[in-house]
Amino acid sequence: MSEKRVVVAIDGPAGAGKSTIARRVADKLGFLYINTGAIYRALALWALRLGVDVNDLYRLEQLAKEAKIDLGADDGRVFLNGEDVTEAVRDLRVSEAASKISAVPGVRRALLGIQRSMAEQNSVVMEGRDIGSVVFPQADVKIFLDAEPDERARRRALQISQKGQRADFQAVTGELKQRDERDRRRSESPLVQAPDAELVDTTGLTLEQVEETVLRVVRARISNGKETRS
Ligand code: C5P
Repeated sequence: MSEKRVVVAIDGPAGAGKSTIARRVADKLGFLYINTGAIYRALALWALRLGVDVNDLYRLEQLAKEAKIDLGADDGRVFLNGEDVTEAVRDLRVSEAASKISAVPGVRRALLGIQRSMAEQNSVVMEGRDIGSVVFPQADVKIFLDAEPDERARRRALQISQKGQRADFQAVTGELKQRDERDRRRSESPLVQAPDAELVDTTGLTLEQVEETVLRVVRARISNGKETRS
């Protein structure tokens, strides 16, 4: 294990490539990859299954406090109260519900502790919306990953069709736009680029180019090279 734990925060809107890049970068650095969106999605799935109204702030906060959410260390799997919900949380209805319940202050408060505790034992690459601004304002490295809205929608549609599902480009564009607006406008921990975050615009870049750019930023920002495995 590293002598000093390092936190790499990657934030940005939906479809910017955060998950793919964060996972690859974590792999290269030998850090733990943490997808915080999966935590909000797991809670949203539970709320949907129980029929909890997205406006019932009290119940949502209670659920957030009771939920047992775990992320697989290497494989990106998501567990809700012991059940593997990795596939279920990718559903479009869950994306929308996650974006709604994540605006509830009590939900965010309850999930903050889970996210911070996941970085207690390891160096991490953590991705989400508010990692550099709220979860780890002292993160060693902060990156804001963005891309043009059309490109983000194209990538998301491609991901969907690669899974053998029908991807309606207009519907995907609309869903991303709505979710981003909600994430940017909420009063609690909105999606913002932290002032000390490095903006990486991935429009027109290949996955390899983005990975290389992010790794360059990480290595430049970590003062002591011993902290990373190369
Ligand atoms: O990252 P992903 O698209 O899976 O996240 C699903 C939703 O969870 C986002 O649209 C956002 O509303 C919420 N989220 C959040 N804060 C995070 C990560 C995700 O509010 N750190």
